Amino acid sequence: MARGGPTPRPRHVPQRTCVACRQGDAKRALVRIVRLASGAVRVDPGGKLSGRGAYLHDDPDCWALAFKRAILPRALRIPAIADDDMAALRDRWPTAPSSPNTTTERAQPIADSPKLTADS
Ligand SMILES: [Zn+2]
Repeated sequence: MARGGPTPRPRHVPQRTCVACRQGDAKRALVRIVRLASGAVRVDPGGKLSGRGAYLHDDPDCWALAFKRAILPRALRIPAIADDDMAALRDRWPTAPSSPNTTTERAQPIADSPKLTADS
């Protein structure tokens, strides 16, 4: 029961570019940060707030980069992010995905091998 064409066309996915890593991605994979008319900077989960927006991957690495290199303020055309805004952003800071590579290697205490003192 083939309905439609042989190749299912993917729906058009709106693309945005992460300001930190400059990689384009589906809009829904990115978090929109918006500078409101008031000058406040907020995360815009719905993508509906009006203002100058910038997109970041929902990835702690991209966020860290955006703040470390002041990429985000530049993208929003502001000199710096206010403390209040920073607090709001930290609320929404992405958490690192649990990677399978987090096996903590414990340093096993090596028991001192008893030194054999050959007393003759
Ligand atoms: Zn990114």
